[in-house]
Amino acid sequence: MMRPITIFLIMLLPVMGFSQRDWSQVSVKTTEIAPGLYRLFVGDGVAVVASVGENGLLVIDAAYAQTTPQLMEAIKKLSEAPIHYLVNTHLHGDHTGGNVELGRNADIIAHSSVKEYLSSEHIQGDRTIPPLPDHAVPNITFSDRMTLDFNGQTLEMTHLPEGHTGGDIIVWFPESRVLVMGDLLFAGYFPFVDVSNGGHPQGFMDNVAWILENFPQETTLIGGHGPVFNMQQLKEYHQTLAKTMEMVKNAKEKGMSQEEMKAERILKSWENYGTFFITEDRWIETIYPFL
Ligand SMILES: [Zn+2]
Repeated sequence: MMRPITIFLIMLLPVMGFSQRDWSQVSVKTTEIAPGLYRLFVGDGVAVVASVGENGLLVIDAAYAQTTPQLMEAIKKLSEAPIHYLVNTHLHGDHTGGNVELGRNADIIAHSSVKEYLSSEHIQGDRTIPPLPDHAVPNITFSDRMTLDFNGQTLEMTHLPEGHTGGDIIVWFPESRVLVMGDLLFAGYFPFVDVSNGGHPQGFMDNVAWILENFPQETTLIGGHGPVFNMQQLKEYHQTLAKTMEMVKNAKEKGMSQEEMKAERILKSWENYGTFFITEDRWIETIYPFL
Protein backbone atom coordinates (compact mmCIF):
# COMPACT_ATOMS: atom_id res chain seq x y z
CA MET A 1 0.00 0.00 0.00
CA MET A 2 1.22 3.50 -0.75
CA ARG A 3 1.90 5.79 2.17
CA PRO A 4 -0.77 8.48 2.73
CA ILE A 5 1.64 11.28 1.84
CA THR A 6 2.42 9.71 -1.52
CA ILE A 7 -1.24 9.30 -2.38
CA PHE A 8 -1.95 12.85 -1.33
CA LEU A 9 0.81 14.26 -3.52
CA ILE A 10 -0.30 12.32 -6.57
CA MET A 11 -3.86 13.53 -6.18
CA LEU A 12 -3.11 17.17 -5.57
CA LEU A 13 0.11 18.27 -7.20
CA PRO A 14 -1.28 18.64 -10.72
CA VAL A 15 -4.27 20.77 -9.71
CA MET A 16 -3.03 23.24 -7.08
CA GLY A 17 -6.28 25.05 -6.46
CA PHE A 18 -7.32 25.25 -10.07
CA SER A 19 -9.16 21.95 -10.43
CA GLN A 20 -12.09 21.93 -12.85
CA ARG A 21 -11.19 25.49 -13.78
CA ASP A 22 -11.94 26.91 -17.17
CA TRP A 23 -8.51 28.42 -17.79
CA SER A 24 -9.83 30.96 -20.28
CA GLN A 25 -11.85 32.55 -17.44
CA VAL A 26 -8.76 33.22 -15.32
CA SER A 27 -7.85 36.89 -15.16
CA VAL A 28 -4.76 38.71 -13.88
CA LYS A 29 -4.94 41.53 -11.33
CA THR A 30 -1.96 43.92 -11.36
CA THR A 31 -0.96 46.00 -8.32
CA GLU A 32 2.02 48.37 -7.97
CA ILE A 33 3.84 47.37 -4.77
CA ALA A 34 6.73 49.87 -5.03
CA PRO A 35 7.90 52.19 -7.84
CA GLY A 36 8.50 49.94 -10.86
CA LEU A 37 7.65 46.78 -8.94
CA TYR A 38 4.35 45.05 -9.62
CA ARG A 39 2.48 42.03 -8.29
CA LEU A 40 0.41 40.20 -10.88
CA PHE A 41 -2.10 37.91 -9.24
CA VAL A 42 -3.18 35.14 -11.61
CA GLY A 43 -6.76 34.13 -10.86
CA ASP A 44 -7.13 33.85 -7.11
CA GLY A 45 -4.19 31.52 -7.04
CA VAL A 46 -0.63 32.44 -7.93
CA ALA A 47 1.46 35.60 -7.52
CA VAL A 48 3.94 36.77 -10.16
CA VAL A 49 6.21 39.80 -9.66
CA ALA A 50 7.48 42.12 -12.41
CA SER A 51 10.21 44.77 -12.28
CA VAL A 52 9.78 47.41 -14.98
CA GLY A 53 12.30 50.13 -15.81
CA GLU A 54 15.21 51.37 -17.88
CA ASN A 55 16.76 47.90 -18.29
CA GLY A 56 13.46 46.37 -19.40
CA LEU A 57 11.53 43.58 -17.73
CA LEU A 58 12.43 41.12 -15.03
CA VAL A 59 9.74 38.66 -13.95
CA ILE A 60 9.66 36.42 -10.88
CA ASP A 61 7.68 33.20 -11.44
CA ALA A 62 5.70 32.34 -14.52
CA ALA A 63 2.44 30.80 -13.19
CA TYR A 64 0.84 27.93 -15.11
CA ALA A 65 1.41 27.01 -18.74
CA GLN A 66 -2.37 27.36 -19.15
CA THR A 67 -2.51 30.97 -17.90
CA THR A 68 0.31 32.21 -20.14
CA PRO A 69 -1.89 34.21 -22.57
CA GLN A 70 -3.48 36.29 -19.80
CA LEU A 71 -0.20 36.73 -17.95
CA MET A 72 1.66 37.85 -21.08
CA GLU A 73 -1.11 40.32 -21.85
CA ALA A 74 -0.91 41.78 -18.31
CA ILE A 75 2.90 42.04 -18.54
CA LYS A 76 2.71 43.75 -21.94
CA LYS A 77 0.45 46.40 -20.39
CA LEU A 78 3.34 47.26 -18.04
CA SER A 79 6.00 47.29 -20.75
CA GLU A 80 6.44 46.28 -24.37
CA ALA A 81 10.09 45.40 -23.63
CA PRO A 82 11.12 41.75 -23.90
CA ILE A 83 11.57 39.80 -20.67
CA HIS A 84 15.28 40.02 -19.90
CA TYR A 85 15.35 37.84 -16.79
CA LEU A 86 12.87 35.29 -15.47
CA VAL A 87 13.40 34.04 -11.91
CA ASN A 88 11.80 30.79 -10.67
CA THR A 89 11.34 30.69 -6.88
CA HIS A 90 11.02 26.89 -7.02
CA LEU A 91 10.20 23.95 -9.26
CA HIS A 92 6.38 23.61 -9.12
CA GLY A 93 4.36 23.83 -12.32
CA ASP A 94 2.20 26.70 -11.07
CA HIS A 95 5.40 28.80 -10.94
CA THR A 96 7.37 27.34 -13.86
CA GLY A 97 4.72 26.18 -16.36
CA GLY A 98 4.75 29.60 -18.03
CA ASN A 99 8.54 29.37 -18.58
CA VAL A 100 7.93 28.02 -22.08
CA GLU A 101 6.53 31.37 -23.21
CA LEU A 102 7.92 33.89 -20.67
CA GLY A 103 11.39 32.36 -20.90
CA ARG A 104 11.53 32.24 -24.69
CA ASN A 105 14.13 35.01 -24.98
CA ALA A 106 15.05 35.40 -21.32
CA ASP A 107 17.82 34.24 -19.06
CA ILE A 108 16.11 32.03 -16.46
CA ILE A 109 17.51 32.12 -12.92
CA ALA A 110 16.80 29.49 -10.23
CA HIS A 111 18.35 27.24 -7.63
CA SER A 112 20.42 24.50 -9.30
CA SER A 113 17.97 21.76 -8.23
CA VAL A 114 15.19 23.47 -10.22
CA LYS A 115 17.24 23.11 -13.40
CA GLU A 116 17.75 19.40 -12.70
CA TYR A 117 14.05 18.88 -12.05
CA LEU A 118 12.70 20.78 -15.04
CA SER A 119 15.14 19.18 -17.47
CA SER A 120 14.10 15.63 -16.56
CA GLU A 121 10.95 13.51 -16.91
CA HIS A 122 8.56 13.02 -13.96
CA ILE A 123 5.83 10.58 -13.07
CA GLN A 124 2.75 12.16 -11.50
CA GLY A 125 0.12 9.52 -10.74
CA ASP A 126 -0.62 7.86 -14.08
CA ARG A 127 0.82 10.73 -16.08
CA THR A 128 4.36 11.17 -17.33
CA ILE A 129 5.41 14.82 -17.35
CA PRO A 130 8.03 15.41 -20.04
CA PRO A 131 11.00 17.73 -19.45
CA LEU A 132 10.52 21.38 -20.40
CA PRO A 133 12.16 22.40 -23.69
CA ASP A 134 15.75 23.60 -23.27
CA HIS A 135 14.93 27.29 -23.61
CA ALA A 136 12.43 27.02 -20.71
CA VAL A 137 14.92 25.44 -18.28
CA PRO A 138 16.95 27.76 -16.00
CA ASN A 139 20.32 28.63 -17.59
CA ILE A 140 21.68 30.67 -14.66
CA THR A 141 21.71 28.70 -11.41
CA PHE A 142 23.20 29.05 -7.95
CA SER A 143 23.32 26.98 -4.79
CA ASP A 144 23.50 29.55 -2.00
CA ARG A 145 23.22 33.23 -2.92
CA MET A 146 23.17 35.42 -5.99
CA THR A 147 22.98 39.19 -6.45
CA LEU A 148 21.77 41.02 -9.55
CA ASP A 149 21.42 44.73 -10.37
CA PHE A 150 18.49 45.53 -12.63
CA ASN A 151 16.29 48.61 -13.17
CA GLY A 152 18.21 50.51 -10.50
CA GLN A 153 17.32 47.86 -7.93
CA THR A 154 19.40 45.22 -6.26
CA LEU A 155 18.00 41.70 -6.19
CA GLU A 156 19.45 39.57 -3.43
CA MET A 157 18.47 35.96 -4.00
CA THR A 158 18.98 33.46 -1.18
CA HIS A 159 18.41 29.72 -1.10
CA LEU A 160 16.53 28.54 2.00
CA PRO A 161 16.80 24.73 2.12
CA GLU A 162 14.22 22.11 3.15
CA GLY A 163 11.15 24.33 3.31
CA HIS A 164 8.28 24.19 0.83
CA THR A 165 10.66 22.23 -1.45
CA GLY A 166 14.40 21.63 -1.30
CA GLY A 167 15.19 24.41 -3.77
CA ASP A 168 13.21 27.45 -2.59
CA ILE A 169 14.75 30.87 -3.11
CA ILE A 170 13.60 34.20 -1.73
CA VAL A 171 14.22 37.49 -3.56
CA TRP A 172 14.93 40.68 -1.57
CA PHE A 173 14.67 44.15 -3.08
CA PRO A 174 16.45 46.22 -0.39
CA GLU A 175 15.72 49.63 -1.97
CA SER A 176 11.98 48.92 -2.02
CA ARG A 177 11.96 46.74 1.09
CA VAL A 178 10.01 44.07 -0.75
CA LEU A 179 10.64 40.38 -0.11
CA VAL A 180 9.33 37.81 -2.59
CA MET A 181 8.95 34.59 -0.60
CA GLY A 182 7.62 32.17 -3.23
CA ASP A 183 5.74 29.31 -1.60
CA LEU A 184 7.42 29.81 1.76
CA LEU A 185 4.32 31.94 2.23
CA PHE A 186 0.78 30.68 1.60
CA ALA A 187 -0.52 33.91 3.14
CA GLY A 188 -3.38 33.07 5.50
CA TYR A 189 -3.49 29.37 4.61
CA PHE A 190 -1.96 26.09 5.64
CA PRO A 191 1.12 25.66 3.43
CA PHE A 192 1.81 22.86 1.02
CA VAL A 193 5.05 21.15 2.05
CA ASP A 194 6.38 19.00 -0.81
CA VAL A 195 8.21 16.30 1.11
CA SER A 196 8.82 14.29 -2.06
CA ASN A 197 10.83 17.21 -3.48
CA GLY A 198 12.97 18.06 -0.47
CA GLY A 199 10.46 20.02 1.63
CA HIS A 200 10.09 19.57 5.39
CA PRO A 201 7.47 21.02 7.77
CA GLN A 202 10.00 22.00 10.45
CA GLY A 203 12.36 23.42 7.83
CA PHE A 204 9.46 25.47 6.48
CA MET A 205 8.88 26.88 9.98
CA ASP A 206 12.60 27.51 10.54
CA ASN A 207 12.87 29.37 7.23
CA VAL A 208 9.91 31.63 8.07
CA ALA A 209 11.44 32.26 11.52
CA TRP A 210 14.76 33.15 9.84
CA ILE A 211 12.97 35.67 7.62
CA LEU A 212 11.27 37.23 10.67
CA GLU A 213 14.66 37.68 12.30
CA ASN A 214 16.61 38.92 9.29
CA PHE A 215 14.43 41.49 7.52
CA PRO A 216 13.27 44.96 8.60
CA GLN A 217 9.91 45.40 10.31
CA GLU A 218 8.56 47.53 7.42
CA THR A 219 9.18 44.82 4.78
CA THR A 220 6.37 44.08 2.31
CA LEU A 221 6.01 40.32 1.82
CA ILE A 222 4.76 38.72 -1.38
CA GLY A 223 3.99 35.02 -1.04
CA GLY A 224 3.35 32.60 -3.89
CA HIS A 225 -0.30 32.34 -2.80
CA GLY A 226 -2.67 34.55 -0.80
CA PRO A 227 -2.63 38.32 -0.15
CA VAL A 228 0.36 40.61 0.43
CA PHE A 229 1.51 40.44 4.05
CA ASN A 230 3.45 42.68 6.43
CA MET A 231 5.93 41.39 9.00
CA GLN A 232 3.38 41.43 11.83
CA GLN A 233 1.07 39.25 9.77
CA LEU A 234 3.96 36.90 8.98
CA LYS A 235 4.75 36.67 12.67
CA GLU A 236 1.12 35.77 13.46
CA TYR A 237 1.14 33.27 10.57
CA HIS A 238 4.21 31.57 12.02
CA GLN A 239 2.68 31.53 15.50
CA THR A 240 -0.54 30.02 14.17
CA LEU A 241 1.24 27.24 12.29
CA ALA A 242 3.40 26.55 15.35
CA LYS A 243 0.27 26.30 17.49
CA THR A 244 -1.37 23.83 15.09
CA MET A 245 1.79 21.72 15.05
CA GLU A 246 1.88 21.71 18.82
CA MET A 247 -1.74 20.57 18.99
CA VAL A 248 -1.14 17.69 16.58
CA LYS A 249 2.04 16.75 18.46
CA ASN A 250 0.24 16.70 21.81
CA ALA A 251 -2.63 14.65 20.37
CA LYS A 252 -0.16 12.20 18.83
CA GLU A 253 1.66 11.83 22.14
CA LYS A 254 -1.68 11.02 23.77
CA GLY A 255 -2.05 8.19 21.28
CA MET A 256 -4.55 9.75 18.87
CA SER A 257 -4.39 8.57 15.26
CA GLN A 258 -4.59 10.94 12.28
CA GLU A 259 -8.11 9.63 11.61
CA GLU A 260 -9.22 10.46 15.14
CA MET A 261 -7.73 13.97 14.90
CA LYS A 262 -9.59 14.58 11.64
CA ALA A 263 -12.86 13.18 13.02
CA GLU A 264 -12.57 15.40 16.11
CA ARG A 265 -11.42 18.35 13.99
CA ILE A 266 -8.75 19.33 16.46
CA LEU A 267 -7.71 22.25 14.17
CA LYS A 268 -11.25 23.57 13.75
CA SER A 269 -10.28 26.93 15.33
CA TRP A 270 -8.20 27.59 12.20
CA GLU A 271 -10.70 26.37 9.63
CA ASN A 272 -10.14 29.53 7.53
CA TYR A 273 -6.55 28.35 7.03
CA GLY A 274 -7.92 25.23 5.33
CA THR A 275 -9.95 26.96 2.65
CA PHE A 276 -7.36 27.29 -0.13
CA PHE A 277 -5.40 24.18 -1.08
CA ILE A 278 -4.29 22.38 2.07
CA THR A 279 -7.33 21.56 4.20
CA GLU A 280 -7.29 20.94 7.97
CA ASP A 281 -7.14 17.20 7.25
CA ARG A 282 -4.27 17.54 4.79
CA TRP A 283 -2.30 19.73 7.17
CA ILE A 284 -2.65 17.02 9.82
CA GLU A 285 -1.46 14.42 7.27
CA THR A 286 1.48 16.65 6.33
CA ILE A 287 2.84 17.29 9.80
CA TYR A 288 1.83 14.12 11.69
CA PRO A 289 4.73 11.91 10.49
CA PHE A 290 7.28 14.56 11.53
CA LEU A 291 6.03 15.36 15.03
ZN1 LIG B 1 4.93 25.51 -4.84
